[in-house]
Amino acid sequence: MSKRRSRPSQSEDEWNSGNEAALSSNSDADDWKPLSKTSRRSAKTRQITKKRKTEVETREAAQTVAGTPDSVHSKSRHSIQTPEPLRSALLGWFTTVRDARGMPWRKPFDFSQGPEERSQRAYEVWVSEIMLQQTQVVTVIPYYTRWMVTFPTLKDLARANIDQVNALWKGLGYYSRASRLLEGAKKAVKDYGGRLPDNAKEMQENIPGIGRYSAGAICSIAYAERVAVLDGNVHRLLSRLLALHAPPKAKSTLNILWNAAEVMVRKDGTDEMHHPGDINQALIELGSTVCKVREPSCGACPLQPWCLAYKLARGDGFQSLPDIEDTCSICEPISPGFDVTVFPMKSDRKKAREELDVVNVIEWRRDTRSQQRLFFLVRRPETGLLAGLYDFAASENIPKNLPEKLVKSTSLGFLEKLFGHPAWKLVSVTSKTGSNCETRNTWVAEPTIVGDVSHIFSHVKKTYRVVWVLMTGGDKPPEPSGATVPDKPSCRADSELREETQSPDSPLKWTWTPLNQVVDATMGTGAMKVWSLARGFLEEEQTSL
Ligand code: SF4
Repeated sequence: MSKRRSRPSQSEDEWNSGNEAALSSNSDADDWKPLSKTSRRSAKTRQITKKRKTEVETREAAQTVAGTPDSVHSKSRHSIQTPEPLRSALLGWFTTVRDARGMPWRKPFDFSQGPEERSQRAYEVWVSEIMLQQTQVVTVIPYYTRWMVTFPTLKDLARANIDQVNALWKGLGYYSRASRLLEGAKKAVKDYGGRLPDNAKEMQENIPGIGRYSAGAICSIAYAERVAVLDGNVHRLLSRLLALHAPPKAKSTLNILWNAAEVMVRKDGTDEMHHPGDINQALIELGSTVCKVREPSCGACPLQPWCLAYKLARGDGFQSLPDIEDTCSICEPISPGFDVTVFPMKSDRKKAREELDVVNVIEWRRDTRSQQRLFFLVRRPETGLLAGLYDFAASENIPKNLPEKLVKSTSLGFLEKLFGHPAWKLVSVTSKTGSNCETRNTWVAEPTIVGDVSHIFSHVKKTYRVVWVLMTGGDKPPEPSGATVPDKPSCRADSELREETQSPDSPLKWTWTPLNQVVDATMGTGAMKVWSLARGFLEEEQTSL
């Protein structure tokens, strides 16, 4: 009889030490006395019988606690032993849905293509994969189409600047994806003659912004390399297929799933004509359209005959108790009455950190009735988060529950630092903008709290408290201290102001933008939400005058 583990959730060491402790409790020095040979044999028999009884009882207890007779199962359950029938069913299904969603980047693989054409395919797949991160297919299609018109090749993209790239990305969100594409294209031109590397390892190691998933997708689809993909869709699909109920981000879980994904694309003699890119795309497509997070369409699933989650949820597919060596030690118990959506196991979501920013929508007018209305925008640095995007000036991470009065004084304090003088008072400043227009300017700043905007930003839950600060007075808006003064006369039309730029050495890039052009500035999603709230408020203000 094979030795079996009594508590599958324990580690091997814990299990051994636990039994040793149980055995050693009988050899306590105070109770010890010599036994005859017969007595020793019967004592040993009793001991073994007791140990086996304990094992059985403990195992039964574990099963009762788990609520399913299958809580002790073999770890070989979580691997794909015979991939060929699954592949055939999967690819047969994929042929029927390949073009259903009209994705312009999805094209059949052409084995006759040379390196140049495959490299072009790699670029197209790369752009589509980056755009599809966190974004739905239907949203991506028009962006992808516009992108390919503007940057048809990787070399075209590499010649672009961050403003052009951000402008095309506007509205898609997660702008760091756009800057990473640009950075990656420049690297590919510099180090690889304008082509993406033709293998996943090199691509992942040397092209910025390309991780294991993207490298697998690009290289399998464009270069027919037999490398796997594991995105959220494939993770969910394989977790269900293999009935894996373990912490979803744990290394052991990911190893099992990557291994299963690799088995699916591996060449095993009988099916060398299967294109690995098709297998990967089919897995992704099946995960996103059939094996959905909620209400998966198991009735329409080509993998249903092999799906363990489907079988277990119907009270089928339970295994006889495995040997200790083959017992799964990473799955966690499942409550009775589950359905397939219990897989994958839900992760403990870390509570997002909460922060409050006071965001200043700073407006300048000559006087309150002036039709010339300009808004102050700052430009973020060329690298890092939200690179090159325009934003409103903000005081970040200030104490929460700040009283209204202190919010306003925070806002005015910020203006003082920004413009280098106490802007909330009536002050006189001599313009430095040129002898031909020399004048005296006075500004009055009046802050009004507009409201709050919530925005999840890089694992931080931001509350943007939007403050409209109306600055009036003078012939021109103030200039931030420390920024290079533009070499232009101070009396300008709105359109000229929009083009105002600072020296490349200036620590702060900024612009005064006319009211009707703020919406065209390339801003991140959070800043666009702020402007949407402020714009609505300003329109109401206007009509109430
Ligand atoms: S049968 Fe259902 S749970 Fe299993 S892989 Fe298909 S859709 Fe997913």
